[in-house]
Formats: sequence, C-alpha cells, structure tokens
Amino acid sequence: MRAVLYYGREDVRIEDIAEPSPKTGEVKLRVLYNGICGSDLHEYYHGPIMTRTRPHPLTGVKNPVVLGHEFCGEVVENGRNVDDLKSGDLVAVEPIQTCGTCYWCGIGQYNHCPKPAVHGYNREGGGLAEFTVVPRSMVHKLPAGISAQQGALVEPMAVSYHAIARAQPASGQTFVVHGGGPIGVGAFLTLKALGDIRVIVCEPSAQRRAILSRLGAEHVLDPAGLNVVEAIRDLTDGRGADASIDAAGVPAAFKAALASTAPLGHLVVVAMHMEPFPFNALALLAGEVSVTGSKTYCNDYPAVIELMTRGAYPLEGWVSTIPMADFIERGIVPLTHQQATKIMVDVAGGR
Ligand SMILES: [Zn+2]
Ligand SMILES: [Zn+2]
Repeated sequence: MRAVLYYGREDVRIEDIAEPSPKTGEVKLRVLYNGICGSDLHEYYHGPIMTRTRPHPLTGVKNPVVLGHEFCGEVVENGRNVDDLKSGDLVAVEPIQTCGTCYWCGIGQYNHCPKPAVHGYNREGGGLAEFTVVPRSMVHKLPAGISAQQGALVEPMAVSYHAIARAQPASGQTFVVHGGGPIGVGAFLTLKALGDIRVIVCEPSAQRRAILSRLGAEHVLDPAGLNVVEAIRDLTDGRGADASIDAAGVPAAFKAALASTAPLGHLVVVAMHMEPFPFNALALLAGEVSVTGSKTYCNDYPAVIELMTRGAYPLEGWVSTIPMADFIERGIVPLTHQQATKIMVDVAGGR
C-alpha cells in the first residue's frame, strides 16, 4: 500500500509498505481523508520534533514513520475482542496513545500524560497510508450525516473546542480569536455553535479574513492595518473582551490579547509559540486576567461530533483536498505560504 513516510528534516518519501493487520483489541481502517496539520509543517522544516530518532518509550517506534494524525476512515476488519464495529462504519480517530498508569492518566487528564505516542508520529502507522490499524479505544464511530471529510476535521476541531472550554464561555459574552488559521477558524465556528456569544476575529491575511467573513464572522479585524486593542475596546464599550484566544502564536497577538481582555477575563494560548518573548506582567495584575494554556484535547471528541451533527463545522470555503502524491508540492508548500487554510489528503482517491 502507498504511504507518506517521514525520514527526517525535509526528507519525506511516498513509498509502498506492507499492509497492516489488526491484533487483539485493534481495528483496521481504510483511510479516506487525512488533514495536514501545522505540526506536520514544523516536523518537515524543523524536525524531528514529534517523531523520534530513538525508540519511543511507549511504542518503541522510531523514524521512518508514517505521517498523518487528523484522519477519518472506514472499518475494514476487526481484531479479536472487537465486536461493536462493523465493516464500512465511518470513524474518526483520536490519535494520542497514553501510558494509562501515570498520575495524569489516573485522574483522567490524559492529555498531560508525560509519555504520549501520537499515531502519525510515534506509533506503527498513520493516517497518510491507504490502511492503518489502531486500538478500538482510539476510535470514535461517526453518526449518520457526517461526511468522511468532516470526520477528518474532528481532531483539529477538538483542539479548538478544548481551547474554548478552557475560557469558560457563557452566553452574552464577547470573545476575540487572534489568528484565522485552522484552529482559529475552529474556535470561531465552535463559539458560533455554542450560541449567544459575539466573536471578533483578528487576522492579518486578507485571504483568510475573506474566508472568515464568508463563514459568517461579523467582526474581522486586520492587526496590520489598525490598532486592534482600541478596536476591541470600541466594540465592547471600553470594557475589553470577556475572553481572548491566542491561535496566532506571534508575540504581537499575545500582547494585543492581553491588553484587550477585560478585567477578570480569560486569555487562552492554544498556538505554539516557538520563541520566548517579553511582555508586561503588570497587565496581569491590573486586570486580574487568567492566562492559561490549552493542550490538544481531553474527552472533547464526543462534544465536537455532536456539534458537527448540528452543522457547526461546514467545510465550504476553507477546506480543500489533494492527492497523496502531491503531499509536498500542493500540501506542505502552500500551507507554508498561508495560501490555504486546511488541506486534506484524499487518501482513498475520492469517495
Ligand atoms: Zn494536528
Ligand atoms: Zn500516562
């Protein structure tokens, strides 16, 4: 079968590898769509970061590895002791395997397990292969009405959903989402779906601002063209936002978010800041703003799938597909230049 393999920095090859078969407690999937993530870009240009040159402590897997952790597939074969899925069932995969024995796994906060192994970075297989095998416990069966492309969107939308949950949203509030990439779009769509919450989005790319407007965003601000702190104050009677989401990952966005969050508000950092930077901590004291982080997801898939069945995550206008053979040229490259928001690999060739 064809698969996209990561050998090392700027060394990704599309090769034929052996088709896997399910062991006890596992499920074999035919992959339909796999989204390309920002972390795949980091891995390509700056890695190994997520992948390992030495065996992973939980799985023993090291490079080369099959890439792809945002995917949807259909069940083709159950391993022993799996009897609640049938051939053709559409599923989304929660790709993080955890140790199950540490303190964090013990209290159910499994996204803080110190030894996570990600399918698509540190496990045998990934979503960028025609077939892959995962434990039954990593599989979420999708209800009728959800398409395979939407299924591949559950993983990144769970990242967005978790970030929103960390900000403790309530009806009547104003949220500001800084950054209109896939996680920012997901944050916006999640907030809209949750109900009576006003959302302001800040995004420097004109193309991405246009996408957000078409998705129904009423307030889309250009941080390169105006003072967003003042603009947010103007839109909130001078009070500032009840909560701000940093989905941009650049110092200017974090500082603007801190300066424009209302007293007692929340600022959630979900973007990866690759470099340390200084900021004025006096702003924390002045507004008693709760600054917090958001790491992947933890029991968030069911809520995302539920919102998806209610139409919360439309694909039109921001999700595009490419064939597996074009992974670098039409996937990694345009995402690097922000010429696209979310690109999915049509692994099965279009179903
Ligand atoms: Zn990802
Ligand atoms: Zn653990």
